[in-house]
Amino acid sequence: MDVIERLKKEEEFLWQNPKKLPFSKAQADCPVKIEEIREAEERLRRFAAYFLSAFPETERTGGLLESELRSIPRMKKRLEKESGREIPGELYLKLDSDLPVSGSIKARGGIYEVLFTAEKIARENGFLPEGVSYDCFDTKQFRDLFAGYSIAVGSTGNLGLSIGIMSAKLGFRVTVHMSRDARQWKKDLLRKKGVTVVEYDSDYSTAVKEGREKAKGDPFCHFVDDENSRTLFLGYSVAALRLEAQLREKGIVPDPAHPLCVYLPCGVGGGPGGVAFGLKQVFGDSARCYFAEPTHSPSMLLGLATGRHDQIAVSEIGLDNRTVADGLAVGRPSRFVGRVMEPFLDGVFTVSDQRMLRLLTALSDEEKIRLEPSALAGMPGPLLVSGESPVPEGATHVVWATGGGMVPPEEMEKYLEAGRM
Ligand SMILES: *Cc1c(COP(=O)(O)O)cnc(C)c1O
Repeated sequence: MDVIERLKKEEEFLWQNPKKLPFSKAQADCPVKIEEIREAEERLRRFAAYFLSAFPETERTGGLLESELRSIPRMKKRLEKESGREIPGELYLKLDSDLPVSGSIKARGGIYEVLFTAEKIARENGFLPEGVSYDCFDTKQFRDLFAGYSIAVGSTGNLGLSIGIMSAKLGFRVTVHMSRDARQWKKDLLRKKGVTVVEYDSDYSTAVKEGREKAKGDPFCHFVDDENSRTLFLGYSVAALRLEAQLREKGIVPDPAHPLCVYLPCGVGGGPGGVAFGLKQVFGDSARCYFAEPTHSPSMLLGLATGRHDQIAVSEIGLDNRTVADGLAVGRPSRFVGRVMEPFLDGVFTVSDQRMLRLLTALSDEEKIRLEPSALAGMPGPLLVSGESPVPEGATHVVWATGGGMVPPEEMEKYLEAGRM
């Protein structure tokens, strides 16, 4: 059946990307290079001294914002039992829900762009002599410098949390433009940290647009443009270098007989796009990357399948962009991620709200891991993909758990309850 018809019917299905090319071909025309990922990684290493000083909880990871890769065998059995089918290979969860500072995948890209901006301002003002340790960013002198600048962003919640917390800590003035999807506790938490929160009774694209407009014309304001930002994308992509090392520690070295299959929840596309792009750079064709979207907000799938990218929104095919997966409530995809990822990406699948909630409760029951609904979108991936294409026994499946670490316990109880119904 026609893809658009299936999307209109809010069906759950896997779309295999017909424009995917072999890695070497895709890479030849690609505007982003692996050197840029290495550069981003080095920048984050320079800031490790800052994190050790300003966020003592990063001591465990030597001042890097990194999360555990955990095997989830009980959840695998549960998925197999409920579907009556086996998942060839091993199942892992990448726990970005536990990332320090902001408890979601946004702690990768969002924080990276704030650091990038802070470093640039410090340099331009002569605050960074050669060889200086970056714990200087955690001093009054630097905070006073950054107080003369502001940072703004549009968000459905988690990007606002990450940018807001990080910018405020460095001393910036921060404004977060929140779409109607943003949870109240996220707005409250940010206000407590001195962040200006502007609320909109409209969707994410409008919040971004308004934020962009308001920031325009102020040379001392940096707008983090989630719909277009290459800097965010590069921050996310560093995850691939880190994952490579974590897999190696577990004795996993992907090759064609032992593919790495990764399932990434997708909103505007920056997070999953950056991670998937990085994984392709590191593992080439041995990495298979799939995005997961809510049936009510399949904006990346729609943009890719029609070739219209950000020139089409889910409202144009009659979808409401209302979903319990607030991190993924995006009706129009990034201007540049879909185009960059088009020849690399293996596919996109859609997931219903009900399924995300049921999986949330199942994961809590089986593995004692608690995530927010968006972070479960990737979980049906291993079954969907192995059901439609051959996946060898030697495969490693990684479901990217993109958020949930900061959800208050009483909110989590509501999710768990909804998933039991
Ligand atoms: C933002 C977000 C995503 C997706 O990232 P995008 O860059 O918007 O595609 C996935 N999961 C959670 C929990 C998020 O907050």
